[in-house]
Amino acid sequence: MTDLTETVTVITGGASGIGRAIAITFARHGGDVVIADVRSDPRAAATPTTEYIETHTDQRAEFVACDVTNKDDLETAVDQAEALGGLDVMVNNAGIFRSEEFLDVSEAEFDRLMAVNVKGVFFGAQTAASAMIERDGGSIINLSSIAGIRGVDNFVTYCTSKGAVRLMTYALADKLGPQGIRVNALHPGLIETSMTTDDVPIISDDESGQRREDGIPKQRFGQPEDVADAALFLASEQADYVTGESLLVDGGITNTN
Ligand code: NAD
Repeated sequence: MTDLTETVTVITGGASGIGRAIAITFARHGGDVVIADVRSDPRAAATPTTEYIETHTDQRAEFVACDVTNKDDLETAVDQAEALGGLDVMVNNAGIFRSEEFLDVSEAEFDRLMAVNVKGVFFGAQTAASAMIERDGGSIINLSSIAGIRGVDNFVTYCTSKGAVRLMTYALADKLGPQGIRVNALHPGLIETSMTTDDVPIISDDESGQRREDGIPKQRFGQPEDVADAALFLASEQADYVTGESLLVDGGITNTN
């Protein structure tokens, strides 16, 4: 079994959705986790991630109030990991998603999305790297998207942000590799979370939802746990020679359609 014993991971946006599944999966595999989020209660009704982990596993789980657009907040999250023994893995997962009409996008809307999705990942990686260099290594996992590989008409700002995360990941892998830090990107496809059922309901029970699902080679929408399993691999020693990689977790959509 993949073993994360004696590792500490910070997961931004770990209260809900994919980040929550990553936190629970890592704890089930022996790791301690810090949930860094603007909220502690999950977006979809359920027990807070920290409470769930403390109840169902033997691992430690701490919540830190953290807005990833604020560098001081990111430092507080990494400090919390240091208090648990030292940061081994940073998962820059927090992100926001919106559908838009390109010609109507305001500067404020553009700036907000880029602040969370790009600036948050940039300074999340920088803060983590400062701590990891002291410890002679670590693993940084950035959440991009299939929208960081393919362009989609009503998501120009989101695609811009996720494409930036992809190239940031490659540049960081180059910069930080000599210091023993691996940096990889995950590219989820259509994963069932509040982001895809509420914010932009592309996963739905209606005819358009069914059509989308039928177009996926795996013939189903993804679950947060699908992405968490890929993150587990990237965090683990089994991925020791994997860096600067983009790993699709999309049921096959991107490379077949
Ligand atoms: P979600 O909305 O279910 O959860 C996102 C979490 O991030 C929430 O707990 C939210 O409170 C937190 N968050 C939002 N803004 C924050 C901020 N400024 N600082 C700290 N935390 C913040 O979303 P999700 O579907 O779990 O998405 C997680 C990541 O995966 C995002 O980066 C998203 O773009 C990416 N992604 C999701 C999908 C999908 O289909 N769901 C597909 C591709 C990529």
